Amino acid sequence: MRVPLIAGNWKMNLDCRQGADLVKSIKVAVQETEVEVAVCCPSILLGCIGESVENTSIKLGAQNMHWEDAGAFTGEISPDMLLEAKVHYVIIGHSERRQIFSETDEMVNKKVAKAIVKGITPIMCIGETLAEREADETFSVLKRQLEEGIKGISPEEVKTLVIAYEPIWAIGTGKTATPEQANEAIGYIRSELEKLYGNQVSEEIRILYGGSVKPDNATEIMNCEEIDGALVGGASLKADDFIGIIQF
Ligand code: PGA
Repeated sequence: MRVPLIAGNWKMNLDCRQGADLVKSIKVAVQETEVEVAVCCPSILLGCIGESVENTSIKLGAQNMHWEDAGAFTGEISPDMLLEAKVHYVIIGHSERRQIFSETDEMVNKKVAKAIVKGITPIMCIGETLAEREADETFSVLKRQLEEGIKGISPEEVKTLVIAYEPIWAIGTGKTATPEQANEAIGYIRSELEKLYGNQVSEEIRILYGGSVKPDNATEIMNCEEIDGALVGGASLKADDFIGIIQF
């Protein structure tokens, strides 16, 4: 059984106090749900939010990580730094990192591989642009990003991975993929995983949907057979909205 995961991606929002208040407001709802909940905050808030989630079941997540252990990489954060902050999840290859900061499939692969070796669970994001969807390239884009992202990773290691299907046209736009579209894409990703790693592995890996998930569409998304949870941006910043999603 795959335990559903709902992860908030705060992106470059909130300060220590606002984040701590948010955690405080969602704590009880998280306690009452069977769903796993994570908050992925900016790196500089990991210490502060780490303290806020202590003694709760809320998992701490980061939004990025370098693949090297240490060195001359100005502005970067190493896996050991995340471990020191007690980070459980790290978002890798979010479309904003790919598009704005030129992250390539190769960089995503190095980060995913390193996170797994270090015992940090990567949430690897893949998804097509609107132009790619309209050109009927959704599946080929997903196949490439998936294969390149997990290249060289053994079946034993890959099992811990979480994948987030995030169609770029649905992120922050208020446009959600229909449950059918999301379910179809995620089913496709799982079938590709089965080809690469076999049925047992593909049945274990959790695949989330992300892109304008809100309390009013969470139920139909979460009820889809293939969808194991949600990566939530905007709606994770407001306690009421995030609680509404957790309680889908
Ligand atoms: P959104 O962002 O929920 O604001 O669309 C999702 C994401 O980028 O992970």
